Amino acid sequence: MLDHDRIRRDTPGASGRVFLDSAGSSLPPTVVLDTAIAHLRREAEIGGYRAANERLDDLAAVKTSIATLIGAQASSIALSDSATRAWTDFFYSVPLSAGDRILLCQAEYASNAISALHRAEVTGATVEVMPSDASGRIDLDALESMLDDRVKLISVVHAPTNGGLINPARAVSDLAHQHGALVLLDACQSIGQLRVDVEELGVDALSATGRKWLRGPRGTGFLYLRPGLASTLHPPALDLHSAEWTDGRTYRMADDATRFEFWECDVAARLALGAAVDYLLELGSDRVEDAVVERADYLRSGLRKVPGVTVRDLGDRKSGIVSFTVDGEDPVAVRDRLAERNVTVTVSHRGSTRLDMTGRGLDAVVRASPHYFVAFAELDTMLAALAGE
Ligand SMILES: *Cc1c(COP(=O)(O)O)cnc(C)c1O
Repeated sequence: MLDHDRIRRDTPGASGRVFLDSAGSSLPPTVVLDTAIAHLRREAEIGGYRAANERLDDLAAVKTSIATLIGAQASSIALSDSATRAWTDFFYSVPLSAGDRILLCQAEYASNAISALHRAEVTGATVEVMPSDASGRIDLDALESMLDDRVKLISVVHAPTNGGLINPARAVSDLAHQHGALVLLDACQSIGQLRVDVEELGVDALSATGRKWLRGPRGTGFLYLRPGLASTLHPPALDLHSAEWTDGRTYRMADDATRFEFWECDVAARLALGAAVDYLLELGSDRVEDAVVERADYLRSGLRKVPGVTVRDLGDRKSGIVSFTVDGEDPVAVRDRLAERNVTVTVSHRGSTRLDMTGRGLDAVVRASPHYFVAFAELDTMLAALAGE
């Protein structure tokens, strides 16, 4: 069991309001905020270089903490400034030529799909979509029949941005690897709420962001690369950190995931990301997942009892993202009406997950994403506000 009292003390932002947007940008624990502010102050006192030098061990520990969280080695982690940066850095480094195939999922995130279409246009590769099964997950039988050795890359969105679905990453990896395809897991919405272990999932690469379920600062994210993979890839761009200028006319790329990192970064944000991951490690991913899923289930069953509300989540096993619509009411109006009652939810529009939303005839859904720090009584408050009580 999580120590809910302590968690609430550590999250002053959660007092006096109902915060249900950890899928968008969560509330940090105090230690995350303090770590960032303390470093910014130190930079203002002695300059950014000396301030960073004082924290070299802590900076190195950020990758170690992330690696511990996902069951990897620190050398397999590249820190970045967003999940999209991490995803595209990897995606644009995978060699593609005319006739090669890229597979996306039905729940694909807009930025990933745009990048895939862009590269297809430039390289002559094709972009295809893996169908979903009746539950809404990637249809594994359909995937198996699509696979051949021209499939170079499969994008799996672990937990989509617009609902509670969880995709079967392990099964996709197993099929993909029989045909030599790489699997890139968009773990943006799973890291920090669900237990994610790269060995268990068998993926080749994974991208994630800091500000969502990890409760870290904005402008942070990371890329994981399977050991041995980084040294086979040419990142879209290099600098004096990802590579070394060895002679006037020669350079050598880093062997590990550092190859995908630039030197300059927001040191305060990185240290704060490390603090966020350490906070999660201390709580335990298993306990966090249980607490999140319990809250999301509670909210879904409450929503089903509110007249006019339809829960829109797909999948058998569900994440902490709860999506719904209200008959005859624009999701934006629902969001704004709840905001007036001090309840924060967001709207996920068709443009973020166009394939899935169009397929289901949805323009937008209300998204409520309760993290473990949310009290059940607060979910009751949200349900009452929604019902207009
Ligand atoms: C938020 C999100 C992203 C993008 O993350 P950024 O940190 O904004 O780049 C990618 N994929 C999914 C599924 C997301 O929900």
